Amino acid sequence: MDFLTLFLIYLCSVLALTALLCLCSGRKESFLTRSVNRASQVIKIIWVSQLLSRACLGLSPLLPRSGLFVVLHVALQAAVFGEYTWEVFVYCWELQFHLLLLLLPYLLLAGNLGCFLLCSRANPGTVTKSNAASLVKVYAYDGLLFQRGLVCPTCTVEKPARSKHCSVCRTCVHRFDHHCVWVNNCIGARNAGVFLLYLLSLTATAGAVAAVTAAFLMHVLLLSNALHGTYLDAQGREQPLEIPVLVQ
Ligand SMILES: [Zn+2]
Ligand SMILES: [Zn+2]
Repeated sequence: MDFLTLFLIYLCSVLALTALLCLCSGRKESFLTRSVNRASQVIKIIWVSQLLSRACLGLSPLLPRSGLFVVLHVALQAAVFGEYTWEVFVYCWELQFHLLLLLLPYLLLAGNLGCFLLCSRANPGTVTKSNAASLVKVYAYDGLLFQRGLVCPTCTVEKPARSKHCSVCRTCVHRFDHHCVWVNNCIGARNAGVFLLYLLSLTATAGAVAAVTAAFLMHVLLLSNALHGTYLDAQGREQPLEIPVLVQ
């Protein structure tokens, strides 16, 4: 059961009990009966509220930092590289492509996975009671977005300039950038560099796969002599095959 479902149950319970309370208060009853009824309704509301709050708190460690997107991330990469190995690598190897060119996507993938692990495992720059005093001196307060002396009510530490409390990680992060669901971690002062490397290696990996695949397709086209072939257009006229037509 997710947080939204619990919240909706809570909301419905409160509304139902409030409606019941209003109905009861409209009846002609003795003062004692009305008082007892109202007291019991209030107790029910408080009890339901506390019960659901405890349920939410109990489940909350499982909800925010679930590894769903990490699993999706790994599954997508596995699917892409499974396809690359099965459909491109094997044929390119038979066509005697240079081995280093064929292995380049795998090497970049290894680097990308390394950056991914570092990024997801690294401390993004958590503000704690022991380091808050030194971190407040790092950046100047602008007095608008970041004001000196503000204390995070959750972490109970003074918030350094450019820091922000992450509601997912439940901690204040120094030089907070964003919470990345793909690496399941905050991006802050201490892992922003690795995160940039992660993005660059991911782009390079995708580019290498695309380049090898394009080279493979061009090679197949040249070998099949398809560029010297013809096709019949909509009017039934014979036309020479050109690259845009082949791409379509
Ligand atoms: Zn905080
Ligand atoms: Zn976070």
